[in-house]
Amino acid sequence: MMDCIFCKIVAGQIPATVVYEDDQVLAFRDINPVAPVHVLVIPKRHIVSLQETQTGDEELLGALLAAARQVAQTEGLTCGYRVSTNIGDDGGQVVKHLHFHVIGGRPLSATPSLG
Ligand code: 5GP
Ligand code: ZN
Repeated sequence: MMDCIFCKIVAGQIPATVVYEDDQVLAFRDINPVAPVHVLVIPKRHIVSLQETQTGDEELLGALLAAARQVAQTEGLTCGYRVSTNIGDDGGQVVKHLHFHVIGGRPLSATPSLG
Protein backbone atom coordinates (compact mmCIF):
# COMPACT_ATOMS: atom_id res chain seq x y z
CA MET A 1 0.00 0.00 0.00
CA MET A 2 2.61 2.52 -1.01
CA ASP A 3 0.04 5.23 -1.65
CA CYS A 4 -0.75 5.09 2.08
CA ILE A 5 0.88 7.85 4.12
CA PHE A 6 1.19 5.72 7.26
CA CYS A 7 2.75 2.83 5.31
CA LYS A 8 5.28 5.38 4.04
CA ILE A 9 6.03 6.37 7.63
CA VAL A 10 6.51 2.67 8.52
CA ALA A 11 8.85 2.34 5.53
CA GLY A 12 10.83 5.41 6.59
CA GLN A 13 9.90 7.28 3.42
CA ILE A 14 8.17 10.06 5.35
CA PRO A 15 9.73 11.36 8.56
CA ALA A 16 7.88 11.03 11.85
CA THR A 17 8.75 11.42 15.50
CA VAL A 18 8.59 7.83 16.68
CA VAL A 19 7.91 7.33 20.38
CA TYR A 20 7.37 3.54 20.45
CA GLU A 21 8.20 0.64 18.16
CA ASP A 22 8.09 -3.14 18.26
CA ASP A 23 7.85 -5.84 15.64
CA GLN A 24 4.16 -5.20 14.93
CA VAL A 25 3.47 -1.67 16.10
CA LEU A 26 4.72 1.86 15.48
CA ALA A 27 3.72 4.96 17.47
CA PHE A 28 4.57 8.51 16.43
CA ARG A 29 3.50 12.05 17.20
CA ASP A 30 0.51 13.42 15.29
CA ILE A 31 1.54 16.15 12.86
CA ASN A 32 -1.41 18.29 13.97
CA PRO A 33 -1.77 17.67 17.70
CA VAL A 34 -5.02 18.57 19.44
CA ALA A 35 -3.48 18.33 22.92
CA PRO A 36 0.02 18.49 24.46
CA VAL A 37 0.31 14.73 23.89
CA HIS A 38 -1.15 13.36 20.67
CA VAL A 39 0.37 10.11 19.48
CA LEU A 40 -0.86 7.75 16.77
CA VAL A 41 -0.44 4.02 17.39
CA ILE A 42 -0.59 1.96 14.20
CA PRO A 43 0.02 -1.59 13.01
CA LYS A 44 3.04 -1.82 10.73
CA ARG A 45 0.91 -3.99 8.46
CA HIS A 46 -1.62 -2.08 6.37
CA ILE A 47 -5.15 -2.53 7.71
CA VAL A 48 -7.76 0.00 6.63
CA SER A 49 -9.59 0.36 9.94
CA LEU A 50 -10.78 -1.56 12.97
CA GLN A 51 -13.69 -2.77 10.83
CA GLU A 52 -11.28 -4.53 8.45
CA THR A 53 -9.57 -6.53 11.19
CA GLN A 54 -10.32 -10.23 11.11
CA THR A 55 -10.36 -13.30 13.28
CA GLY A 56 -6.71 -13.90 14.01
CA ASP A 57 -5.94 -10.22 14.52
CA GLU A 58 -6.76 -10.33 18.24
CA GLU A 59 -3.12 -10.51 19.25
CA LEU A 60 -2.30 -7.51 17.08
CA LEU A 61 -5.23 -5.55 18.51
CA GLY A 62 -4.02 -6.36 22.00
CA ALA A 63 -0.52 -5.27 21.05
CA LEU A 64 -1.86 -1.94 19.74
CA LEU A 65 -3.74 -1.23 22.97
CA ALA A 66 -0.79 -2.32 25.08
CA ALA A 67 1.40 0.04 23.07
CA ALA A 68 -1.10 2.85 23.70
CA ARG A 69 -0.83 2.14 27.43
CA GLN A 70 2.97 2.13 27.19
CA VAL A 71 2.98 5.45 25.33
CA ALA A 72 0.71 6.98 27.96
CA GLN A 73 3.12 5.85 30.65
CA THR A 74 6.26 7.13 28.95
CA GLU A 75 4.50 10.41 28.12
CA GLY A 76 3.61 10.82 31.79
CA LEU A 77 -0.18 10.88 31.37
CA THR A 78 -0.76 10.02 35.01
CA CYS A 79 -3.98 12.06 35.28
CA GLY A 80 -5.69 10.21 32.44
CA TYR A 81 -5.96 10.35 28.69
CA ARG A 82 -8.09 9.18 25.77
CA VAL A 83 -7.58 6.36 23.27
CA SER A 84 -9.82 6.50 20.22
CA THR A 85 -10.05 5.23 16.68
CA ASN A 86 -12.11 6.65 13.84
CA ILE A 87 -13.69 4.21 11.41
CA GLY A 88 -14.72 5.06 7.88
CA ASP A 89 -16.12 8.23 6.41
CA ASP A 90 -18.99 8.68 8.86
CA GLY A 91 -16.55 7.98 11.70
CA GLY A 92 -14.38 10.86 10.55
CA GLN A 93 -11.46 8.67 9.49
CA VAL A 94 -9.18 10.65 7.19
CA VAL A 95 -6.18 8.33 6.93
CA LYS A 96 -7.34 4.88 5.87
CA HIS A 97 -4.74 2.94 7.84
CA LEU A 98 -5.88 1.74 11.27
CA HIS A 99 -4.64 4.02 14.04
CA PHE A 100 -5.41 4.68 17.66
CA HIS A 101 -5.14 8.27 18.84
CA VAL A 102 -3.55 8.63 22.30
CA ILE A 103 -4.52 12.12 23.47
CA GLY A 104 -3.76 13.75 26.77
CA GLY A 105 -1.82 16.31 28.73
CA ARG A 106 -4.84 18.53 29.38
CA PRO A 107 -8.38 17.93 30.61
CA LEU A 108 -10.53 16.58 27.78
CA SER A 109 -14.27 17.00 27.43
CA ALA A 110 -16.18 14.21 29.12
CA THR A 111 -18.07 13.35 25.96
CA PRO A 112 -16.41 13.08 22.56
CA SER A 113 -17.75 15.51 20.01
CA LEU A 114 -20.87 14.24 18.32
CA GLY A 115 -19.79 16.10 15.21
P1 5GP B 1 -8.09 10.37 11.48
O1 5GP B 1 -8.92 11.59 11.24
O2 5GP B 1 -7.89 9.57 10.22
O3 5GP B 1 -8.56 9.53 12.62
O4 5GP B 1 -6.68 10.91 11.94
C1 5GP B 1 -5.57 11.04 11.10
C2 5GP B 1 -4.52 11.77 11.86
O5 5GP B 1 -3.30 11.64 11.16
C3 5GP B 1 -4.79 13.26 12.05
O6 5GP B 1 -4.82 13.57 13.44
C4 5GP B 1 -3.64 13.93 11.32
O7 5GP B 1 -3.18 15.10 11.97
C5 5GP B 1 -2.59 12.84 11.28
N1 5GP B 1 -1.67 12.90 10.16
C6 5GP B 1 -2.01 13.03 8.84
N2 5GP B 1 -0.92 13.01 8.07
C7 5GP B 1 0.14 12.85 8.90
C8 5GP B 1 1.55 12.75 8.68
O8 5GP B 1 2.04 12.80 7.55
N3 5GP B 1 2.32 12.60 9.78
C9 5GP B 1 1.80 12.53 11.04
N4 5GP B 1 2.68 12.38 12.05
N5 5GP B 1 0.50 12.62 11.28
C10 5GP B 1 -0.34 12.77 10.23
ZN1 ZN C 1 -1.08 1.82 5.20
